Amino acid sequence: MKIKKLETFTKPFVSFVKVTLEDGSTGIGQMSTYHADITAQIFHKQVCPWILGKNYEDFEDIENLILEKEHKFPGSYLLRAIAGLDTALWDLKGKLKKLPVVSLIGGNPGFLKIYGSSMKRDIQPYDEAKRFKTLQDEKGVSAFKFRIGSECGRGKDEWEGRTEEIVRLINKELDISTAKLVDANSCYSSEQAIEIGKLLIDNNITHFEEPCPYWDPEETKKVTEALEIDVTGGEQDCDFRIWKDMIDRKIVNIFQPDVMYMGGLTRILKLANMINKSGFTCTPHAANLSLVTVCTMHFLKAIPNAGKYLEYSIEGEDYYPWQKNLFSKHPFNIIEGNVEISDDPGWGVEINKNWLETSDYKISE
Ligand SMILES: [Mg+2]
Repeated sequence: MKIKKLETFTKPFVSFVKVTLEDGSTGIGQMSTYHADITAQIFHKQVCPWILGKNYEDFEDIENLILEKEHKFPGSYLLRAIAGLDTALWDLKGKLKKLPVVSLIGGNPGFLKIYGSSMKRDIQPYDEAKRFKTLQDEKGVSAFKFRIGSECGRGKDEWEGRTEEIVRLINKELDISTAKLVDANSCYSSEQAIEIGKLLIDNNITHFEEPCPYWDPEETKKVTEALEIDVTGGEQDCDFRIWKDMIDRKIVNIFQPDVMYMGGLTRILKLANMINKSGFTCTPHAANLSLVTVCTMHFLKAIPNAGKYLEYSIEGEDYYPWQKNLFSKHPFNIIEGNVEISDDPGWGVEINKNWLETSDYKISE
C-alpha cells in the first residue's frame, strides 16, 4: 500500500503529521517539539519527496532511504522531522490492525509507573518539596526528579547554595521509600560532579542525570566510575555511532534516549535492543505532555530492559502554555502513581479539532 499524502499542522512549539495511504487509511504522528515551524519545513523539503508513492510497510527501510538521500544532513533536525513520519506510520499500522502500538511491539496495554519530573530551576527548594508532597498525597506518585546546578552552567549553581539546600531539603521532606532523582543538565566538571555525587549519596538520591557536558563523554565516564550511584544520560543523542560508543565504553549506567530526538519509535526500538544486548537499562527522556510522552509510554511498556518508571512532566500552563488542549481527551490519567495505556488502536489519542483548525497547514502529495 502506497503513501499518498502527508499533511502537517504546525504551531511554534508542536507540529503534527497526518499520513494518508492510497486506500484512504490515515495515521497521526508528531515531530519533536520546539522550533516546530523549522522542522515542518524540513519535513516537506527533505522527508516527503523521498517517501511519497513508496510502500508504507517497512518503516526502517523508508526512513533509512531518507537518511541516505539526505546524507549531507546527518543531524538532529532531519531526525526530528522523521519522528513525525515514523510515529504517524505506527499509528496507522495500529489502526489498520485494530491494536494499540504497545501490542504491535510485544507489550500489553495497562498501567505504567511514573516519576514526577520537575523542569524548574527557578523554584525555591521549599516550594519544590511542597509540590512533590502534594502530588504524593493526591496522586500517589512515589518517585520525583528535581534540578540541580544550572543548565549547561559551566559549574555555576542557579543561585549560590541552591543545590546543597534542595538536595538536603528534599531528602528531609520525602520519606525513604520515595525515589529521589536529580538532573544536572550538563552543569559540572567531573571533579565537581564527584563532590556533588557524594552529597547526593548521603541524601538518598539514586539517579544522577547528565552530570557533565554530554558532548564530553570522558568527563561523564569519570563520574560513573567514581560513584556508587546511577549516572544516567543520552537524551540529546540521536546518532547510532555515538550510542554504540556510549554503550561499549559504559559512559553511563542507565541510558535515556528520547523517542522524538531519535527519529521515532522504529529507531528507538533498535537502540533499546542494542542497550539490552549489553545488559543495560533504558529509562527514556520525555519532557513534556505532547505525543512524546504517549509514544514513550507504549515503548517503555514493551521493551524488556525498561527502567523503573516513565518520566512524566509535572509542569502545567505556567511553564508549558503550548501543551494546553493538544488532545481532545487528556491521555494521562494518573492513578496511584501510574498512567494507563488504553487498548485503543494506534497511539489511542485524538488531536483537538480546534487546535488543528487554528494551526498552519501544509500538504505534500
Ligand atoms: Mg535530563
